Amino acid sequence: MAGESSAAAATLAVSPVTEEEITLTVKWSGKEYTVRVCGDDTVGELKRRICEVTNVLPKRQKLLYPKVGSKLSDDSALLSQLSLKSSLKMTMIGTVEDDIYVDLVDPPEVVDDFELGQDEVIEIKDKEVNKQKLRRRIEQYKIVLRNPCREGKKLLVLDIDYTLFDHRSSAENPIELMRPYLHEFLTAAYAEYDIIIWSATNMKWVELKMGQLGVLDHPNYKITALLDHLAMITVQSDTRGVFDCKPLGLIWAHFPEFYSSKNTIMFDDLRRNFVMNPQNGLAIKPFRKAHANRGTDEELLKLTQYLLAIADIDDLSSIDHSDWESFNEDSYKRRRQE
Ligand SMILES: [Mg+2]
Repeated sequence: MAGESSAAAATLAVSPVTEEEITLTVKWSGKEYTVRVCGDDTVGELKRRICEVTNVLPKRQKLLYPKVGSKLSDDSALLSQLSLKSSLKMTMIGTVEDDIYVDLVDPPEVVDDFELGQDEVIEIKDKEVNKQKLRRRIEQYKIVLRNPCREGKKLLVLDIDYTLFDHRSSAENPIELMRPYLHEFLTAAYAEYDIIIWSATNMKWVELKMGQLGVLDHPNYKITALLDHLAMITVQSDTRGVFDCKPLGLIWAHFPEFYSSKNTIMFDDLRRNFVMNPQNGLAIKPFRKAHANRGTDEELLKLTQYLLAIADIDDLSSIDHSDWESFNEDSYKRRRQE
């Protein structure tokens, strides 16, 4: 891990220093790690930065720091409220999960979706502090391409939990929990779209789940990249407090010659994940209780039709994706009239 930590520290050292940025030394397991955070970050985000250099998952970390009491156990607390100093060292207690099966019995937490008002969405998206968080994340997060971006293709970004897979039900074989028509959907989409999978869980879980479902080595489509929780940013809303979201600007900044707000669409069962790019998100109906719903769920089939119907449109952000079902009906009627 020492090599990775120095690489991460080196990346952080070249990023522009702003007034409210703090460089923290974190002691863990006999070594010291450097993380750079800023006052607008939450404790949850600090834990993610520590995860990047130590591989200890945020939920496994316990942070200790002089004179801050229990505030460090509240993931939504802002670091600016903790009066951290570069001169004092933080101690982290936690263990790396070498055994992936720990995660299988302890799947990601479920947080129900909530609606944000239109004004609030615009405010969050345009807030300078959030744009700055995004810029920092762009500098810090490396996207590893599994397959090259393809010229002239649009981009489809997919969530996993409850979108492609019911991660809360149990089954002897994970295939039983896969949303129906997943491979047919990905095969059809691949003709017009590059595919990136972005989950709010960690990369081990993403690779394990997608591998088990046969998504990573399918003969009929290729996945361009996998993204995990470390690529997300935390934003604050007046009515809902702090929450994490998936800013597509991170992908657009890494591959500006291929992807932009004009050619990207993202499917997620949590609408708040789109808050930094509301025009590019489609809130998919969650796939829950796989055993009961496996026989009837046709969401991916209908969404295939939608994806292909809009593939010729120059600017995908000009369409209201919440109307996707009536768009499908209209295009069906148009075809019958031709
Ligand atoms: Mg989900």
